[in-house]
Amino acid sequence: MSATTPPAVLAVAKLSPLYLAHLNAHCTLLDRLQESDPAALARLAPQVRAVAASGDSRVSADLINSLPALEIISVMGVGYDGVDLAAARARGIMVTHTPDVLNDDVADLALGLMLSAARQLPAADRYVRSGEWAAKGPMPLARKMSGARLGIVGMGRIGQAIAQRAAAFGMTIACTARSAKAERPYRYLPDAKSLAAESDFLVVITPGGAGTRKLIDADVLAALGPNGILVNVARGSVVDEAALIDALERGVIAGAGLDVFEDEPNVPERLRALPQVVLAPHIGSATSATRQAMADLAYANLRAHFAGEKPPTPVPECR
Ligand code: NAP
Repeated sequence: MSATTPPAVLAVAKLSPLYLAHLNAHCTLLDRLQESDPAALARLAPQVRAVAASGDSRVSADLINSLPALEIISVMGVGYDGVDLAAARARGIMVTHTPDVLNDDVADLALGLMLSAARQLPAADRYVRSGEWAAKGPMPLARKMSGARLGIVGMGRIGQAIAQRAAAFGMTIACTARSAKAERPYRYLPDAKSLAAESDFLVVITPGGAGTRKLIDADVLAALGPNGILVNVARGSVVDEAALIDALERGVIAGAGLDVFEDEPNVPERLRALPQVVLAPHIGSATSATRQAMADLAYANLRAHFAGEKPPTPVPECR
């Protein structure tokens, strides 16, 4: 930052060390989690000009309104459903995020979960390690992925990266979103249920928040059917988790690959007990290269703002 007095930045969650490295080098960092004295935070609140957050941080209206000098909220992550945008916009506060730099990784993971669930890779690994292969012979046959029908719920930046990869598997690709877009070369269906009815794999990659809450419900899962595999790399809130567990237990769908959950990091025991489910601890963007790119972009947004420039990646509502 070029200013002689480094701006005070409040870290509201456990942030990536890569983002913290930028903040420690260029800002006066106040860490809400590390600060044991709430009075000290209250004393410093009037100086805070920026909030640094991660994709799953909650930045509530109360928090925003407790920071009278707040100018910008810089989220390291593409999803910003934890930020009370209405409260930020009411005060003219800029909100930024880190889109695009993580498309490849999240799309790679989506394909990995599809393959893992279809070909039962975690179960196959256990089969070898446990000695069952030698004791029982070949594993039961799995599902073929190449050439199958893929439905993508949310055809944005990451959805399109998933579609590009799926095309290399010879999959037939269709999608749903908020609206059809002429420039997208994929068949469009008006809602998740009609898409599920024509899909072998249904991949969910919308934003979280109120607009998509429980978009994937018992009806959508019933439409996906007993050979269908659900993959969620979006947010846990987008899938009705109780309905999903029920559908898996009763064989309403065949299996699932899940990177996100309703109450992370708590994953229901009933879900963890199901062998046809592949589970990942919210690692969509979790590679060293991508987390570095996200940290650099999160900081670049702050640096630009404090230099009096337009941040490179404001959220659409702040453009
Ligand atoms: P994006 O470019 O904004 O795309 C979002 C897509 O979702 C758009 O196609 C949009 O429709 C669609 N959509 C929004 N609301 C919808 C609704 N109510 N019903 C159906 N479709 C809806 O976002 P992105 O960069 O691809 O990221 C998508 C999300 O992925 C993020 O918001 C985040 O929650 C999640 N994510 C997860 C991880 C992870 O670690 N697992 C990592 C990064 C991101 P339109 O095209 O009609 O606007």
